[in-house]
Amino acid sequence: MTVSGIVPADQMGKALIHEHVFLDWTGADSIRPELWDNAAAFLVTLPKLREMKAFGVETFFECTPNYLGRNPALLRRLADSTGLRIVTNTGYYGAVRNKYLPAHAFTETPEQLAGRWVREYEKGLNDSGIRPGFIKIGVDGDSVLSPLHRKLVQAAALTHLRTGLTIVAHTGPDAPAVQEANILESMGVRLDAWVWTHAQGGTSAQHVALARRGAWISLDGLGWVAPENGDSSGLKKYVQQIVYLKDQGLLHRTLISHDAGWYTHGQPGGGRFQPYTNIFTMLIPALKKQGFTTRDIEQLLVKNPQEAFTIRVRRMEK
Ligand SMILES: [Zn+2]
Repeated sequence: MTVSGIVPADQMGKALIHEHVFLDWTGADSIRPELWDNAAAFLVTLPKLREMKAFGVETFFECTPNYLGRNPALLRRLADSTGLRIVTNTGYYGAVRNKYLPAHAFTETPEQLAGRWVREYEKGLNDSGIRPGFIKIGVDGDSVLSPLHRKLVQAAALTHLRTGLTIVAHTGPDAPAVQEANILESMGVRLDAWVWTHAQGGTSAQHVALARRGAWISLDGLGWVAPENGDSSGLKKYVQQIVYLKDQGLLHRTLISHDAGWYTHGQPGGGRFQPYTNIFTMLIPALKKQGFTTRDIEQLLVKNPQEAFTIRVRRMEK
């Protein structure tokens, strides 16, 4: 489900599953979308998307949630201008100590929250006619999930069971990931409906354990590994994690992306922009040195995104 309408999953082509076009860090209590300069954001992001598209990318998952700058009108305009298939989301982001949660998220039940998200899927975002293609939630990287964050996971599970949308959960380390997985399974959701997002913050041992239970392992910070970010070893860690998953026979559970971009509301010119290209200029050459074939790369960038994001209910068998 793209911002331009339904696309058959087998036509997705090369996809980046976790990127950003626009963000507004103001906070849910004071965010004002009417102040957004979409014309400026369009001019900044258009060449960056074209630069990425030149590497063959056809489908782009924009992971900015509601109350954090989700901007369907801008995404639609960029999709029209680039020919990219752009996908947006429903759901709420609880990470950063709930700064991006609207007041009703604190009081409503999982069923009520799921009702809102299902409605967005069925009716479109704010009656724009633009429908979300996945669920995005966020939890803090705590060793024990807070009751509020457990509730977000429960709401995502209910939304999945009613819509078939895949759950992309900003998570990070092992402990909250395992708790999310347990909640989802306890509610009857198979783990291949769930993307452990920012799994590069977890351990290879837990990647393997959760991937064997069906989960998608999303190693998605590749936009930030360039040496000029003071992270010359960053790429090596990604390569090690991906090679390890392949050696364990789990390349078919592995997703990669940059988590890059974006135009930041309130900063001059939208702030510093991280390009969506490190996978093509840095990661793929490094993986090829480790013996990765063209087929392996296609698995990561075409087959896995297609399998992960095809809309269908994935229910545990009783
Ligand atoms: Zn992100």
